[in-house]
Amino acid sequence: MHRRSAMLGAAALAVPALLRAAPALAQAPAPVPPPATPGFFRFRLGSVTVTTLFDGYFQRPLAGLIRNAPPGAAEQAAREAFLGTDPLSIPYSVTMVQAGGQTILFDAGTGGQLAPTGGWAIANMRAAGVTPEQVTLVAHSHFHADHISGLTTRDNAPVFPNAEIAVPEAEWRFWTDEGQASRAPEAMRPAFAAVARRFGPYRARIRQFGDGAEIAPAVRAIAAPGHTPGHSVFEVTSGNAGLLVLSDTTNRPEFFVRNPGWHAVFDMDPQSAEANRRRLLDRAAAERMWVTGYHFPFPIAGRIAREGDGFRYVRADWIDSV
Ligand SMILES: [Zn+2]
Repeated sequence: MHRRSAMLGAAALAVPALLRAAPALAQAPAPVPPPATPGFFRFRLGSVTVTTLFDGYFQRPLAGLIRNAPPGAAEQAAREAFLGTDPLSIPYSVTMVQAGGQTILFDAGTGGQLAPTGGWAIANMRAAGVTPEQVTLVAHSHFHADHISGLTTRDNAPVFPNAEIAVPEAEWRFWTDEGQASRAPEAMRPAFAAVARRFGPYRARIRQFGDGAEIAPAVRAIAAPGHTPGHSVFEVTSGNAGLLVLSDTTNRPEFFVRNPGWHAVFDMDPQSAEANRRRLLDRAAAERMWVTGYHFPFPIAGRIAREGDGFRYVRADWIDSV
């Protein structure tokens, strides 16, 4: 009783003291709880195990992301999908496939070397029970920095010491061509340098693939240029189940799956990118395939349905993972 009274008294006294102490409090804010960060999502595709690894996200304004949306339409699409516009968050992810004794990664994540809110793919891979040493193949869709930076550490040591590296031959040709590098606008020069740096330590175990090549059992490459000259997607098949690893065929689906005619500012050849986007989304919808996308929100996997003159992305449900 006495104790309770004493506590109440202390509390009553504390209020004005806290108010007076406001400047000191501003220097020592209450700790902000960390955000709930998604990790990995796993599902079965016939006899193949597919695991999506969340790598993080970066932020930019929506303004300037889409080259050709009618005025107000991009903002409207953001509002309908409950997305911010300034900033807009754009996720990164890696798709991992375990099939026929192989552990295959599609792209390498950011390695924590681009946005401070990225680089979690390896931690999430470990949480999913796989170590970088166990990765047997890293298959690249294209060579933008957000897809290749995770290949090596800050000191440029290989992150995947036992992996082969598979790259689209058209992508390799473009980014390793000294003529292209010298003709490229100043702003693109670092991208050429990054390709040389990240692939350097793997030089002896890089193999190039063409359109339609079977890069691993159950995995076939499909050329889908436009985003970059050699941009490729991957088809994983087991029995009559299929997955398209769409890579950067679309950026956030809330904009570019719904509106496949919209052109993201990152696409080097927007017309080819759009043609391939329509072709691949159409096929995914017709064949009721699984899809994953590098810039899709967690759980990064889902399905595509036709809707109006575009498509609708249906996120995977947790129940798909059990
Ligand atoms: Zn990308």
